[in-house]
Amino acid sequence: MISEKGSGFDVVLVSGEPYADHPLSGVGVIARALDAEGFKVGVIGRPDWRREADFARLGRPRLFFGLTSGSVDSLLQNYTPLKRPRTRDPNAPHASGVPDRAVLVYANIVRRLFPGAMIVLGGVEASLRRFAHYDAWEDRVRRSLLLDARADILVYGPGELQVVDIARRLDEGRDLDGIAGTCVVRSALPPGFKEIPSYEEVSASKEKFGEAQALFSNRRALAQKHAGRWVLQYPAPEYSAEDLDRIYGLPFTRRIPADHPGLEMGRFSVVTHRGCVGRCSFCALTLLQGDRVVSRSEESILEEVRRLARHPEFKGYVDDLGGPSANMYGMDCPRRATCRRDDCLACPKLDRRHARLIKLLRRVREVPGVKKAFVRSGIRYDLALESPGYIEELARHHVSGLLKIAPEHVSPKVLKLMNKGGGKKALERFRALFKKASGTKKQHLKYYFMVAHPGADDREARELAAEVRRLEAGGEKPVEGVQIFTPTPMTRSACMYWTEAAA
Ligand code: SF4
Repeated sequence: MISEKGSGFDVVLVSGEPYADHPLSGVGVIARALDAEGFKVGVIGRPDWRREADFARLGRPRLFFGLTSGSVDSLLQNYTPLKRPRTRDPNAPHASGVPDRAVLVYANIVRRLFPGAMIVLGGVEASLRRFAHYDAWEDRVRRSLLLDARADILVYGPGELQVVDIARRLDEGRDLDGIAGTCVVRSALPPGFKEIPSYEEVSASKEKFGEAQALFSNRRALAQKHAGRWVLQYPAPEYSAEDLDRIYGLPFTRRIPADHPGLEMGRFSVVTHRGCVGRCSFCALTLLQGDRVVSRSEESILEEVRRLARHPEFKGYVDDLGGPSANMYGMDCPRRATCRRDDCLACPKLDRRHARLIKLLRRVREVPGVKKAFVRSGIRYDLALESPGYIEELARHHVSGLLKIAPEHVSPKVLKLMNKGGGKKALERFRALFKKASGTKKQHLKYYFMVAHPGADDREARELAAEVRRLEAGGEKPVEGVQIFTPTPMTRSACMYWTEAAA
């Protein structure tokens, strides 16, 4: 234990990523959100876990330590889909700087150094391991990270509203029960929670594992028993457009530290919305940001673009105007808070016109000082097909050489398992519209495909390979974005993989 003199900080955040005061940095946004409420925040970015003193340099915070691996699960960062350490990847050797199971490692160190300190877990790794989950790296079911890390509370999703609530309550000496978007461990099951099969049941039975999976949702109060205790999930908070406007309106300096070069490409990016109505089986976004879209107001986005235009290093190019799927901006449903359906994409009430987005793009182009505003986030191409006017707008004004789309596969069987729309005909239609709208501009589509998803056998792999060859023979750039499926914890595809439900 180190000497405890008191740090002067209310909250100390420890992140596997270097700190950046930037709206694309998770820890940067959390720090700003707390700071805006008057809390004094210290950040330890990418500590060396082999040197415990690194974790002690800001002392013991008055309220809590917030621990995160950063924007990616540490095991996904450290291993290829074939479980080869990325440090020995012959194609792209890479040392992430985070330990395996970073959140757990950080929690153990903090507890050793500061016995009794309040520990709050957050970020992607904690969110995707909040309940018992299949862990591909150990090929077994692991219990909730909250129990393994022996933390006080786990924040899932983006987390700004939760951490501010936690800080306020601790400041006022109140308990942490009932905070929307958090999980806690309790020794009794309170009323109002839907009980999902226990850790012991899902470890012993793949059928029970599938039952638990079917109930995972950010919109439910869920409870899962682990031995004699319950992991309780309080439903995620309803973010409003005003919440997002306020968060992205915070005074980020956008300074990118030298050890965080990955953010440089997005330095002058603007986040337009959160959430995704796609619900692809392999994707964790729904478990993080939810399956409803919440968009910022047009005025707030324009104001941010005007601020960028005044930035001394801005050269006139907005790096990206986007969100999880760039073309879902404006697809907010007025019924989203009360509707119990899970499938917005299949719902006739979903506004697919892209009208708000087209208007926004046009207004951003008119902001003095903006030469170009690019859309570098991927778009949901099958949804874009419902608005050829949007494809035209995008191709004419907002593509910087490459437009990313993620068909993922072309086999109807695999697409169905992926819960993904599209297919060969839709892809062909989109290509034709994009090409026509691009005219003589030298710009291309960048495709992302996935192999080895559950249900994709040799036949489907050959079908995909034939399509890739056809695209390339038709003059497309070589298709580089082919990834091997990785079972991301708590996703439906990981469940299919573990339970062999797609076989
Ligand atoms: S009404 Fe339809 S679009 Fe709206 S939230 Fe419900 S499922 Fe989604």
